[in-house]
Amino acid sequence: MIRFTPILLALLFAWITWRFSAWQTAKELDARSVPLADAGLKRLTDRMAEALGVSRIEVNLYRIAPVNGLAAPDGRIFLTQGFYDRYRAGEVSAEELASVIAHELGHVALGHSRRRMIDFSGQNAMRMALGMILSRVLPGIGMWVANMITSLLAARLSRQDEYEADAYAAALLTKAGIGTAPQKSLFHKLEALTGAAHGTVPAWLMSHPQTHERIAAIEKMEARWAAVERGSD
Ligand SMILES: [Zn+2]
Repeated sequence: MIRFTPILLALLFAWITWRFSAWQTAKELDARSVPLADAGLKRLTDRMAEALGVSRIEVNLYRIAPVNGLAAPDGRIFLTQGFYDRYRAGEVSAEELASVIAHELGHVALGHSRRRMIDFSGQNAMRMALGMILSRVLPGIGMWVANMITSLLAARLSRQDEYEADAYAAALLTKAGIGTAPQKSLFHKLEALTGAAHGTVPAWLMSHPQTHERIAAIEKMEARWAAVERGSD
C-alpha cells in the first residue's frame, strides 16, 4: 500500500484539479456570456433543430474578442463576440456561422466536450500526475517525458475530434438543407484572415487541423454519400 500511496495521491490531486478547472470554466463562461438572440441565425438553427428532432438549439454569446466557437463540458454552445462581430460586419455569413454551431453541436453530441476538458485545463493535471509517477521511475527526465506524452496525446485526440465534429456538421447541414458549401467557404475565409493578420491565428483554427485537409475530408464524405445515393436509385 505504502508503495502505491504516491501514485494514488497524484491521481487524487489530478482529479481535484480537473474538477476545479471544470467548475472554473463554467463560472467564467457564466460570468461573460449571454444568450444569443439573432433572427437571421435563429432561422438557420431552427432548421437544424428540426433536422435533429429537437425543439430548439440554444447558442450563447461569449464576450471575448478572439474568433472562436466552443462547446462547454456541460453541453452548452458558445460563439465568441469576435466571431459574431465578423458576421454583423458582413465578413461571415449566417450560414457560415451556422456551420460553426453545427460543428460545436458535433462535439457535444459525440461526447467530445466533456472529454476535451483534458485538452482545456485538465491537461496540466494529467501532466503533473504523470510527471510525479514517471519521476519515480525515471529520475530527472520523468517530468519531461510526461510533458511529451501529454502533448502528443492531446494533439492526437483533438485532431480526431475535429474531423468527427466536421463530419457531424456536414451531415447535419446537409439534412437541414443548408449544405456544406458554407462550412468549406468559412475554412477559406479563416485561413485568409490569418494570412492578412500576419500570424495572429484565430484560436478556432489553431486548435484545428489544416484547412485543406478538413475540406478534403468533407469532400471525400460527400463523394461517398453521392455514391450511396446513386446505389439506392
Ligand atoms: Zn472543433
